Amino acid sequence: MVRRYSARGLEIKAEKILREWNPDVLDRPGRIDIEAFAEQHARADINWFRLSKDNTVLGLTCFENRPIMVYSEDGETEQIIDGHEHMIILCPSAWDEGGESRGRFTIAHECSHVLLHTAKDLEQSQEGAAPHTVAVNPCVELTDGRKVQDWVEWQANRLGACLLMPKTMMKAAVPDVAEPDEDGDYEIALDGVQALAQLFDVSVLAMKIRVAQLQKEKFLRAYLGEDAQIVGVRQ
Ligand SMILES: [Zn+2]
Repeated sequence: MVRRYSARGLEIKAEKILREWNPDVLDRPGRIDIEAFAEQHARADINWFRLSKDNTVLGLTCFENRPIMVYSEDGETEQIIDGHEHMIILCPSAWDEGGESRGRFTIAHECSHVLLHTAKDLEQSQEGAAPHTVAVNPCVELTDGRKVQDWVEWQANRLGACLLMPKTMMKAAVPDVAEPDEDGDYEIALDGVQALAQLFDVSVLAMKIRVAQLQKEKFLRAYLGEDAQIVGVRQ
């Protein structure tokens, strides 16, 4: 049975994990070196192969010694490689098409599978997939949230976001970009989101989602004052 984590539980878990890796990492808002984290703390072995013919699969996590099917660079030829525990495979297209920020999020997502899940969880979640491996497509459409696959993907996306944009760092960074309007409400305008995205080296979309997640938890209001209301990301 896949363990259910709450959003709050994953926020706490991410900061605990990051502090175990580097006790000072949360002191100042900025870019998390997710590749170093993957190797040093998640003990993940990062490899690069094309994972699908159409380049829709950007990452994959392997949980035990077993063969994995990958593709040649041009996508025409199938190849079998030796997979092993906590091997992460990244598709170069994650960088080519989405830029470094998308690649960084893919690493954070795959690390989250390593940190949260077991082969058994993923076996349950991937109908028809090779046992003990999970092919991860960030564009995967979540259905109604009741399928095991939805849980594991939601968990990996959420923990990934918490690792790249930790709550403590966000709290420190947001006041520099949030301005009160005439009603005393705070808004983060698009240029503020862009500044945050640049500071954390994530995509603007990932930062928009992150601000919305934290807004929901009302942490911004608590930080900025009882009367302050964050009214969303202004376009
Ligand atoms: Zn995934």
